Amino acid sequence: MKQVYEFKDGGKEMVALLGGKGANLAEMAKINLPIPKGIIISTTACNEYFKNDKKLSSALEEEILTNIRVLEYETGKKFQSTKPLLVSVRSGAPVSMPGMMDTILNLGFNDYVAEKMLEITKDEKFVYTSYLRFVQMFSEIAKGIERKKFLNLKATDYKEQIIESKNIYKDECGEIFPENYKDQILIAVKSIFDSWNNERAILYRKLNNIDNNMGTAVVIQEMVFGNFNDKSGTGVLFTRNPSTGEDKIFGEVLLNAQGEDIVAGIRTPDNIELLKTSMPNIYNELTETVKRLEKHNRDMQDVEFTIEDSKLYILQTRNGKRTAEASLKIAMDLVKEGIITKEEAILKVEPASINKLLNGDFEEKYLKEATLLTKGLAASSGVAVGRIMFDAKRVKIREKTILVREETSPEDLQGMALAQGIVTLKGGATSHGAVVARGMGKCCVTGCSEIKIDEINKTMTVGKYTLKEGDFISVSGHTGEIFLGKIPLKENSFSDELKEFVSWASEVKRMGVRMNADTPEDVEQGKTFGAKGIGLCRTEHMFFKKDKIWTIREFILSDRGEEKEKALKKLHNLQKEDFLNIFKILDGDEANIRLLDPPVHEFLPKTLEDKKKMAEILSISLENIEKRIYRLKDENPMLGHRGCRLGVSYPELYRIQARAIVEAAYECAQKGIKVHPEIMIPFIMEAKELAYLRKEIEEEIESFFKEIGARVEYKLGTMIEIPRACLLADEIAEYADFFSFGTNDLTQMSMGLSRDDSVKFLDDYREKGIWEGEPFYSIDTKAVTKLVEIGVKNGKAAKPNLKIGICGEHGGDPKSIEFFEKNNFDYISCSPFRVPTAILAAAQSYL
Ligand code: PEP
Ligand code: MG
Repeated sequence: MKQVYEFKDGGKEMVALLGGKGANLAEMAKINLPIPKGIIISTTACNEYFKNDKKLSSALEEEILTNIRVLEYETGKKFQSTKPLLVSVRSGAPVSMPGMMDTILNLGFNDYVAEKMLEITKDEKFVYTSYLRFVQMFSEIAKGIERKKFLNLKATDYKEQIIESKNIYKDECGEIFPENYKDQILIAVKSIFDSWNNERAILYRKLNNIDNNMGTAVVIQEMVFGNFNDKSGTGVLFTRNPSTGEDKIFGEVLLNAQGEDIVAGIRTPDNIELLKTSMPNIYNELTETVKRLEKHNRDMQDVEFTIEDSKLYILQTRNGKRTAEASLKIAMDLVKEGIITKEEAILKVEPASINKLLNGDFEEKYLKEATLLTKGLAASSGVAVGRIMFDAKRVKIREKTILVREETSPEDLQGMALAQGIVTLKGGATSHGAVVARGMGKCCVTGCSEIKIDEINKTMTVGKYTLKEGDFISVSGHTGEIFLGKIPLKENSFSDELKEFVSWASEVKRMGVRMNADTPEDVEQGKTFGAKGIGLCRTEHMFFKKDKIWTIREFILSDRGEEKEKALKKLHNLQKEDFLNIFKILDGDEANIRLLDPPVHEFLPKTLEDKKKMAEILSISLENIEKRIYRLKDENPMLGHRGCRLGVSYPELYRIQARAIVEAAYECAQKGIKVHPEIMIPFIMEAKELAYLRKEIEEEIESFFKEIGARVEYKLGTMIEIPRACLLADEIAEYADFFSFGTNDLTQMSMGLSRDDSVKFLDDYREKGIWEGEPFYSIDTKAVTKLVEIGVKNGKAAKPNLKIGICGEHGGDPKSIEFFEKNNFDYISCSPFRVPTAILAAAQSYL
């Protein structure tokens, strides 16, 4: 099977085989862009290599060398000849993993080649620095010799430095530096394959959920030299601003330099605009070429280019990483420019970006009083507040930390992932820190040259301030500003642009997206975010507001009989008023109202003062109150007298709530307001429970209808949140007009993990590799989803038209939403602030 490809043999669609870089180069070759010639060794070859105990098969070696001969023919140059060919050897995985794997430049050098290059260029410095760079890069990448070994060479002359470096190579790996190009190539290919499994690449894949079995391709490409002369240079650009999305080329160039200088952040580059004056023709050709690329690839591009002696070469292009803000703006602009469709735009924006946009800035009024420490380059937007930490390895999960580094390197990845924000003293907008932070959607400010770090005393000084590790700073990736102390964050911003985008997603999605909302204010909020209807109104939450809590306390603590009846009446009046307001705002959208499900302990008075007040309300003694509290206390409240258990003990409670709902619905209907109430019973484990409660509620509602001589339409259904209910869903469905899966309790009960306590120990599980992720955030796809599937299947078997929704926290999580779409749920429901994200995720999982 063919394992080595010429650029002309490939195309964009061959990413899995040729890697992102290779497939892109092939695509660029197809549209005649100026690219250096080259060949690609496939990912299949890489996987074969690993299967073959990390050995290149002789067939592969032969195929590589045959293609090298083709490359020599095409370039008109020959390895180690009078017209020498030099190449770069780069990794290129199917998924972009910036800076994670290795590259070797200037391969092909030996003393003879240096001599010939000198004859051609007459530039001793250029030739010998290129040669030296090759020797050192090859030593480091192919043989793992530490870079610092080459930092303090004794020799001052380049030629001697090369000899000294080759001697280090010999000392370190016990063999002489390979002079023959064939050896150089084969060793390089092998080491690039190996870099697929280096520590940082493995970590990056883990953090980004990238398949370990993809392997990397290797691109061998003719070298072009940005450090050839003053009419040469190298640069990186984005076809649009990756921080704001503005349709303006954004990038950096370094004249007389090689590409790695920019990426490593060693020299701070100039703005791309410099080319406009220093090489106007190249600037025009470059802007025209990259726009063509953007159109062809239908997305914002991140392009690396080199100018060699006034000739432009495009080295690579890929879809550019961008901030949430840029992601939205670019997707929408591309639609407006007719380059992509709305559906494509929807697929381009990550649901998590929406959350970031809704959460992303400082409260302006506090900014005015804040102390500005310094200003760097706004490399990745968003804001972060946290404690200073200088050591990436010591950043911990759940601690609000700002990682402050001289410059970042791929070894810092874990710390960067855990930090709230990143500040670097060196580097530009395309340095490692900036690119990785943007990919992570993390606020980042680079190039803060005014900050001085004292590693020994663990302090940093900026102007007259000296801050210790652990002190708080606030960082804005929007402006590049760094402030002293903590600045409060702005609550949210639902811009017109975001609203329009969410409305596109709304048109596309199949599932309904409702809100979990308990108060008229929540409902208002959820509606502005695009929710249609309520998926869960937790009636016990309606009492969370200060003085309302006394009504529910009164009900819980009152004795049966007159006391209870009085309490119920108050409860009824209060609830009815809330329902009326909610129905009005909903204006005809469905309202799923769940009858009381209070873990009783949350509502019992705790302080002496509160107990006294309760005694006064009920006109009983304090001692009596204490007794009643004692009696009501559950040892295990989550599985205690809650949900429908309470309804079974006190059917009058559920009756009165149901009455308040239909009364409010009737009054609204009288005023011409459409209402679709859905009464939901929580915590059902047995069909007979539901049958009993349904009968009680229906009786109450029918007696109300009799009183008024009219009816209002309503539905009565249940939550499915107990494993037993999933297994017996067919029996339960007989008495339910709808199911709503309560995946919070379902997760708690099927995994035996307390919703409230598992944060204490799940970190240990994650550290020990026993568990990944957060089961109360993203649904467990191994078992909890199975229970849900059984619940859906059994429920629908008994009642094919049974309406099915979900109202646990998972209703706002994009990965879980994919599962609900796949299982044909009618709707998902989540808290108002997660609604825009859920709408986008619902649209994406449908497309
Ligand atoms: C659930 O259990 O998933 C649910 C939505 O109900 P609650 O969170 O109120 O227990
Ligand atoms: Mg529940």
